[in-house]
Amino acid sequence: MDVTGYKLRFSAQLDALFSSTGGNGTDALSRLPSPELAGAADACVADDEVDDEYDAARDAEANGGFRHTSPSNLTGSLPLIQSLLQISVSDVTYSSFLLSPGFANIAGSSSPDSETTASLPCPELEELSKWMHADSLCEDFDCIVFKLFRLTRNKEFGRHFLVTKAIQKDTVLFTENPLVIGPKWNLDEYEQRSTIVPCVGCFTDCNLGQFYCELCRWPACKPDCPGLINTNLHGLECGILRFGHPPKPGDDPETFFDYYRYDALLVLKCLAVQISSPNLFDQIINLDSHYEARKHTRYYADADERIVSYLFRHFLDPLQALERKEGKVVLKVCDRKTLHMISGILEVNAMVIPLTNGREICGLYPMGCMLEHNCMPNSFYTFDCSKGMKLTFKSGRDIQKGEHLTTTYTHSLWGTQLRREHLKTNKYFACKCVRCTDPTELGTFLSALRCMGIDNEPCGGYQLPNDPLSETSDWKCNRCPVQVTHDQVNFLMSKIGEEVDDVMGRKSSAKEFEDLIHKLENFLHPNHFHLQTLKHSLIQMYGHFPGHRLNELSDAVLLSKLQMCREMMSIIDVLDPDSFRLTLYAGVVLLEQQAALVELNKRSNRSSVPPQKYDLDEALKCLFDHNRVKQAEQCIAVRSIDRHFCDIFRV
Ligand SMILES: [Zn+2]
Ligand SMILES: [Zn+2]
Ligand SMILES: [Zn+2]
Ligand SMILES: [Zn+2]
Repeated sequence: MDVTGYKLRFSAQLDALFSSTGGNGTDALSRLPSPELAGAADACVADDEVDDEYDAARDAEANGGFRHTSPSNLTGSLPLIQSLLQISVSDVTYSSFLLSPGFANIAGSSSPDSETTASLPCPELEELSKWMHADSLCEDFDCIVFKLFRLTRNKEFGRHFLVTKAIQKDTVLFTENPLVIGPKWNLDEYEQRSTIVPCVGCFTDCNLGQFYCELCRWPACKPDCPGLINTNLHGLECGILRFGHPPKPGDDPETFFDYYRYDALLVLKCLAVQISSPNLFDQIINLDSHYEARKHTRYYADADERIVSYLFRHFLDPLQALERKEGKVVLKVCDRKTLHMISGILEVNAMVIPLTNGREICGLYPMGCMLEHNCMPNSFYTFDCSKGMKLTFKSGRDIQKGEHLTTTYTHSLWGTQLRREHLKTNKYFACKCVRCTDPTELGTFLSALRCMGIDNEPCGGYQLPNDPLSETSDWKCNRCPVQVTHDQVNFLMSKIGEEVDDVMGRKSSAKEFEDLIHKLENFLHPNHFHLQTLKHSLIQMYGHFPGHRLNELSDAVLLSKLQMCREMMSIIDVLDPDSFRLTLYAGVVLLEQQAALVELNKRSNRSSVPPQKYDLDEALKCLFDHNRVKQAEQCIAVRSIDRHFCDIFRV
């Protein structure tokens, strides 16, 4: 495939479109955006003049490609559809797609006449050109898969990887590149209405309204961000986004949020893949979408409005109108059901990739999405931002022959009910792992409730579910005969959840955290995950917050900081004994534990004396463990960043 040829012709057409819509011969990048540009794709306005231009463009193509020099007769919508048609390439294989024009050209090295000479915005992007060359999926896959594990299927687990030979901890099991990457598709309400948005070319943060892709008018970090013309980053969907009518400066801010829906972009990207690579598109569309199961859920209804209707209304309806008018087809597969299927595919299979700038994006990985879940997994994956978001899957502990390779798709520090609910709604999967099956969650009591006893006389026992695998199971005390219904438990949990979210969601004071912890300790086991969430924040406030610096803390507070740290580490030791999942979380605890111990030791040498001597061995061990988990953490990109903590220190 003549990759460079396609790239140049495509770019030439974009140039043609560009220089023809805004005025004669002015510098494209310095020109103010014209509304005509945004509306250029309007399918319904094509007239005779446009038809002539279309013929001229076709002649030009017949005469050996598009002209680079001011084809000022190419205006309006036709060049757009032409440019999209130009990149319809058949027979592009998976790996050739990943090696395709954008990546080859973006570093400006492989093609001397490439027009991409702008410096790249970040080292991550700088590396994008090289990443596929390092090692190919096929080679890795072949050599490892037959030696250590194989893909198989059974009734209970469906598709899974069965280990065929004992595997040592820290073995790289496979690496692979994404099928597609794009802005996070499951944005929360806050993210949906943020004016700081990811550049459509390279995902760095930019301000809504500052710079745009000059062609589609979607926000960019700068007008010449190289990612904008990279087929794997923005190049493909740009052609479709140009059919929209973006809001203009001075319009109601709401119209900006309504128009720039980043959460729909990844769906559009997946759809647009069929233009450049039908094979790759087939690969995506054949992933599990759970279409029928989703159909009557709120997720379907939500995607119907937020994504499907939105994409048709703004971009796909005008494109299809033009396709009909011209008798040409750019998107062979483009209907509401397909968009819903892609939404379902992303919902179940997309993996969240944390970038070094703190932003998260999403990617689809062909093998990554086949990994089996377990709440006590034996393996983990990382993403290498410097190698095009390449995924590396590694064993987290020694694995025996006959085990399945497993990873975790939910938060390790959530209680069983919450984890299973999350897996069921997002992955259509009911986990029955050893942790889920044990009412005490391996003795951690992470979900246990304090028993209120008879006549509100607490018995000192804890309420645990009779059957943790049933959502409707009643709970019973482990010490007295008192039982509570699942409705009562759900009600209590939702009330407590709201209170915790409230305190975590704003910049609450240490006092507010202390008060809520004190209140919740009446209802929950001290290890309950809601309490642990609050305590993890509080141990970081103690020692860092104004008025709560380490030397300002009372002995009692310092001791309670130490106590909370020890409590957390004892839970982590059970839930992540090989330290490959909760690394950042544990790293924070160990550092705080060490700081508390050193301070207590200092005080015991003076004579404000806490009753006990705090020798430095434990502190040293904390530091040692901290360094160990920190090393692990550096390779683990799936980081459970304590957002509250980050927010506080950004102030
Ligand atoms: Zn950019
Ligand atoms: Zn664009
Ligand atoms: Zn489980
Ligand atoms: Zn009881």
